[in-house]
Amino acid sequence: TELVRCTGVARTYGRGDAAVVAIHGLTATVRTGELIAVTGPSGSGKSTVLHLFAGLDSPTAGTITWPGLGGDPTGRPGAVGFVFQGPSLLAPLTAVENVALPMLLAGVTPAEAAARAATALGLVDAAALSQRLPEELSGGQAQRVAVARVLAARPALILADEPTGQLDATHRDQIITVLIETARHLGAALVVSTHDQRVATRLRRQWRIRDGRLCTDAGPAPVPTTD
Ligand code: ADP
Ligand code: ADP
Repeated sequence: TELVRCTGVARTYGRGDAAVVAIHGLTATVRTGELIAVTGPSGSGKSTVLHLFAGLDSPTAGTITWPGLGGDPTGRPGAVGFVFQGPSLLAPLTAVENVALPMLLAGVTPAEAAARAATALGLVDAAALSQRLPEELSGGQAQRVAVARVLAARPALILADEPTGQLDATHRDQIITVLIETARHLGAALVVSTHDQRVATRLRRQWRIRDGRLCTDAGPAPVPTTD
C-alpha cells in the first residue's frame, strides 16, 4: 500500500531575494512496511520532508497525496504518528496522560488507553517516569515519552524527526530498535530523519538529501505485511 506519494514537490521559505529553497524536485513514495532513514547535515531539509510527509506543512509546488491513508493524513484518526524534534509534551499532563490522550481523543476506551500507555512507556524504558510532569523530565526522557505516545496510538505511518538527538548511546539504540520493532508489529511504515550514521544504518533504506534534493534508493523489497 502506498501511504505517501510526492510528485515534483518543492518547499520554499520566504520570497524574493530572501527565499530559501529547502526542498525541490521531490518525487518519492513511502509504502507499508518500509523502514527509511532520511539523512543529511543540519539545515539540509530533513524536517521539511517529514513535515510534508505528515501533512503538517504544504508544498509550494507539486503534489502530495496519501492514497493508503484515505487520501489525506487526517482521513483516519491516528493514521500518522509524528515524533517531533523539540519539546512536544503537554505541560499540565503527566507522562502517562500525555501518552494516553491521543488514544482517548481517537475513541479508545480509558482502560485500553491506560494499558497501551503503560506498555508503550515500558518499551521506551520510561515506566518509572509515568507520573512525572514534562518539566520534571530531561530532554532525553521527554523524547522517549514522545516516542511512546506515537507507538501507543498504533499509526500506519510513523514519522520521527531526529528521535535520538538528545539520547545517550544506550537509549539511542533502544529507541531505534523499538521504533523498528513496533513498525514491524503494526505493519506500519517508518521514516526517521537523522544526521547520525549509527542510527541511519539501522534502517533498511537510506534516502540522502543533497542540495535540497532527496536521493532515494531502489531499496530491498518491503517486509511482508498482512494488509
Ligand atoms: P534539517 O531538518 O535538515 O535541519 P530543515 O528542514 O529544518 O533542515 O531546514 C531546511 C532549510 O530550510 C534550512 O535552510 C532552514 O534554515 C530553512 N527553514 C526551515 N524552516 C524555515 C522557516 N520556518 N522559515 C525560513 N526558513 C526555514
Ligand atoms: P495483538 O494486539 O495483535 O493481539 P499483542 O499486542 O498482544 O498482539 O502483541 C503480540 C506480540 O507483539 C507480543 O510478542 C508483544 O510483545 C509484541 N508487541 C506488542 N506491542 C508491541 C510494540 N508496540 N512494539 C513491539 N512489539 C510489540
